[in-house]
Amino acid sequence: MGRSSKDKRDIYYRLAKEEGWRARSAFKLLQLDHQFNLFSGVNRAVDLCAAPGSWSQALSRKLRSPSTEVKIVAVDLQAMAPLPGVTQIQGDITKVSTAQEIIRHFEGQPANLVVCDGAPDVTGLHDVDEYIQAQLLLAALNITTHILTPGGTFVAKIFRGKDVTLLYSQLKIFFSSVTCAKPRSSRNSSIESFVVCQNYSPPEGYIPSMSNPLLDQSYDVDFNQLEGSNRVIVPFLACGDLSAFDSDRTYPLQLDASKEYEYIPPTQPPIRPPYEQACHFRKHNLLSREDAHQSHPQPRRTGTSQ
Ligand code: SAM
Repeated sequence: MGRSSKDKRDIYYRLAKEEGWRARSAFKLLQLDHQFNLFSGVNRAVDLCAAPGSWSQALSRKLRSPSTEVKIVAVDLQAMAPLPGVTQIQGDITKVSTAQEIIRHFEGQPANLVVCDGAPDVTGLHDVDEYIQAQLLLAALNITTHILTPGGTFVAKIFRGKDVTLLYSQLKIFFSSVTCAKPRSSRNSSIESFVVCQNYSPPEGYIPSMSNPLLDQSYDVDFNQLEGSNRVIVPFLACGDLSAFDSDRTYPLQLDASKEYEYIPPTQPPIRPPYEQACHFRKHNLLSREDAHQSHPQPRRTGTSQ
């Protein structure tokens, strides 16, 4: 795929480069803020699963001002290029030590806003992907219970899969308001949405922990069969109106008739991407095993043989 064909495919990808965002996902957080006023009065924010950093960029651009002291902490397993006003922790959100490190950066104070756009590497097996995403969301919720102030807000990516009502129920234990929101920049073809959980109010006497109820075998229930007070259905909101770009549509390269299309490289390429080694091999022609091919020419295969 050529460089401009990627631009043609995705309008938010192009807009992200034009406006200097590290990833198109910045628009998701900005559109959620537009709908829910997430950033109002926030002076301590945490971005969980932050790399390459477009959500942290959005927090940095929107929260920081000369008149208020704002602290932003970004956490990811992967290294991330520095951002103004953002403290980075290269760590795992499932570890209590990460929660302690965040609180240390806030000098013992809890955060007002925790956001998490976390995603594990997608396997393509939908049930597995949904399950792993749910695990990551619960890990994000667990760490949030260690670091969020009562009344605070938690926003996280969620896959609206078959057991999503269990997740809603768990979130409702901790937040008086839980809404599932789909920003315009999130493709309709994707099951991705975002839970916006407002007014953090943990049950009285709740002691934050990192344990995960979905891994507890005693939860052997079909959660969609739950009824009455055991079944929680949260409101679903499509954010934004039809004037915003549609992330599933293909737009012409030249959006503005008065300006000629110009390719803009990505704002911040990944620092150490998993495909780095493959690029190195390809560049140095180390991918082909000429000897083997010459002596035993093989037909091309499309899948693995195991
Ligand atoms: N919001 C980011 C942005 O706007 O640039 C994009 C986040 S990306 C979709 C998902 C990130 O989740 C990856 O960088 C991955 O390393 C991170 N991640 C996945 N599991 C994690 C974990 N257990 N702890 C910390 N980060 C994790």
